[in-house]
Amino acid sequence: MKRLPGKVVTTLSFSAVGIAALVLAAQISLARQSSSSAAKIPSAMEPIPALTPFVDGHTHFDEKDIPATIRTSLAALGRENAAMIFLQMPPDIFDHPGRYDAEIVLSAAKKYPGKLAVIGGGGTLNAMIIQAAANGDAGPAVQKKFRARAEELLREGVIGFGEMTAEHFDGLTPYQYAPVDHPLYLLLADIAAEHGVPFDIHMEAVPQDMALPAGLKSPPNPERLHANIPAFERLLAHNPRAKIIWAHLGSDFTGFRTVELDRRLLQAHPNLYMEIKTDPKAPGKNYPLADGKLKPDWLKLFTEFPDRFIIGSDQHYPEPKGEDRRWQEVILLFNQLPADVRKKIGTENIASIYGNSVASFLRAAKD
Ligand SMILES: [Zn+2]
Ligand SMILES: [Zn+2]
Repeated sequence: MKRLPGKVVTTLSFSAVGIAALVLAAQISLARQSSSSAAKIPSAMEPIPALTPFVDGHTHFDEKDIPATIRTSLAALGRENAAMIFLQMPPDIFDHPGRYDAEIVLSAAKKYPGKLAVIGGGGTLNAMIIQAAANGDAGPAVQKKFRARAEELLREGVIGFGEMTAEHFDGLTPYQYAPVDHPLYLLLADIAAEHGVPFDIHMEAVPQDMALPAGLKSPPNPERLHANIPAFERLLAHNPRAKIIWAHLGSDFTGFRTVELDRRLLQAHPNLYMEIKTDPKAPGKNYPLADGKLKPDWLKLFTEFPDRFIIGSDQHYPEPKGEDRRWQEVILLFNQLPADVRKKIGTENIASIYGNSVASFLRAAKD
């Protein structure tokens, strides 16, 4: 017992030396860090902007804090090298509390023409379609109301309709289904064509009736999913002048949004466009990147149809804290495209799909 204090002293003195060594090491490491940030050596945490300008055609926002939405999306333009950002409404149903549409953000976003633009209808037109599909009423009165609402949104200043859906798993908004050749979808195609605006649709790929994919819960999702690719082709053929953007290429949760399916549909339907989204937190089943590198079969698809893709990151503004940034992942993909293809997917395709409401600003920015 008497020898114990001696041992304690020895241990303490060794600890003191150890602590001094640690402090010194920490000081050296801090000095290195500050000299590296002074020299602006990019760290893994610093965002990597697009090599050439792009338009993000599909983002969402905080409907309860519009000033923060506007501030953060404007600030993102420079950081990302984005020419414009389009704000969309989530596809929603009438029964979902908190449902909203373009009016919530239009007046604030319209103060920044050529920087921000709004795509609307997710909270109303989409809700009308989901409701009509459920109750079976798509008669003349419903169609009249639908057209009136679509044209009201256009008068208020939306540049397209979205986010629509025909097959949407439960998430921030509830599970939603409608036949994608529903009479109101055919009418939407006609209205879009008449006014020269596109619509943007979220639809999990279901080539034939199938069980809910493993890993998804039922309820809230249904046990079985309806085939939608044949109906989608009927919608695309219904009005070839309607430009239809199929959202979320690269974010596939059934396993059927393959390069082969996308290629076949692009070949068959010249009015079909696709929006690229890659979410590293939820990569899904046919992810275009492997270890950050663009897979050769996806590169081949983008190169074969360079006029048919745009960027639609599905980023939320303000960016969720501590989350992987969706825009960053899709820009890492974008930066691997050949320069001529990148220019088209970045800005030129958006300009031709959306027409002068967007093209004039992109031209002005270039001159
Ligand atoms: Zn979506
Ligand atoms: Zn979305």
